[in-house]
Amino acid sequence: MVQSSPSSMSFKKRWVQLAGHAGNFHAGEGGKLLKKFCECEQQCLEQLMGDSLRPFVPGYYGVVQRDEQDYNMMDDLLAHFNSPSIMDCKMGSRTYLEEELVKARERPRLRRDMYEKMVAVDPGAPSVEERAQQAVLKPRYMQWRETLSSTAALGFRIEGIKKADGTCNTNFKKTKHRQQVMQALKDFVGGDSQILKSYLQRLEELQSELEKSEFFRTHEVVGSSLLFVHDGSGQAQVWMIDFGKTVPLPPPLSLDHRTPWVEGNREDGYLWGLDNLIAILSAMLPA
Ligand code: ATP
Ligand code: MG
Ligand code: MG
Repeated sequence: MVQSSPSSMSFKKRWVQLAGHAGNFHAGEGGKLLKKFCECEQQCLEQLMGDSLRPFVPGYYGVVQRDEQDYNMMDDLLAHFNSPSIMDCKMGSRTYLEEELVKARERPRLRRDMYEKMVAVDPGAPSVEERAQQAVLKPRYMQWRETLSSTAALGFRIEGIKKADGTCNTNFKKTKHRQQVMQALKDFVGGDSQILKSYLQRLEELQSELEKSEFFRTHEVVGSSLLFVHDGSGQAQVWMIDFGKTVPLPPPLSLDHRTPWVEGNREDGYLWGLDNLIAILSAMLPA
């Protein structure tokens, strides 16, 4: 009889996924995680292993194959926690790349399906012209969608939260205002200000490393998340994950990640969003 090693057994029990397609991930051996191969992500993770941001990303171990599919192998960030509470926070003031916007514009087609999605969420959203056409253009839809959540307003949005008690919420698409975000964060930490303090401290360290990082300066970082993890022992950590849409800039271009985005400048609002997140957490702590 083939037996799983104890480490892979406990691994399977522990690992939880808050975003993306379930089929894109597999448990690896010994506290590792396999994510469906993406070249862009591979390039980023490889470079990050030699960057000052290394302590803030999962360790990366290269490409492995399983059933003819390639995977990027990385550390499972939950491996050292006991029934952790986790939160995925998608950073930045837009979650599509500039090149995606350009592509969406290349063959402009009126989209009835997107119009319908828009109306279902907010009947007042379409313009007079869009209403007459009963359709919208894709770039318009992409930009409108960012204004629903806190992405456009605060530079980050909560994608999902799973708490130690097993409850899971991935319905934050309309969590937009500071007060709503605060409520979700308060619920996530169960009102524990010590946990909140640890998160805040870790985010401030990250902020300072991001300001120094060569990698960060030279990449447009879109759709990337911060993964928050804490458990009953009191440890609370944050890591950067998901580099599927993090692309190098053509030299000598660099970003400060705070300047507001205008099309062409490639700014992603990542640090602006982190500043806002830090300010919100600070305001939640007793003075
Ligand atoms: P999407 O682009 O839709 O966000 P994706 O397929 O790129 O999804 P990720 O965002 O990288 O996938 O990861 C999805 C989820 O898997 C995260 O929200 C998190 O819960 C979990 N996850 C990802 N990487 C790790 C890791 N290294 N350790 C632990 N959990 C992880
Ligand atoms: Mg993601
Ligand atoms: Mg992704």
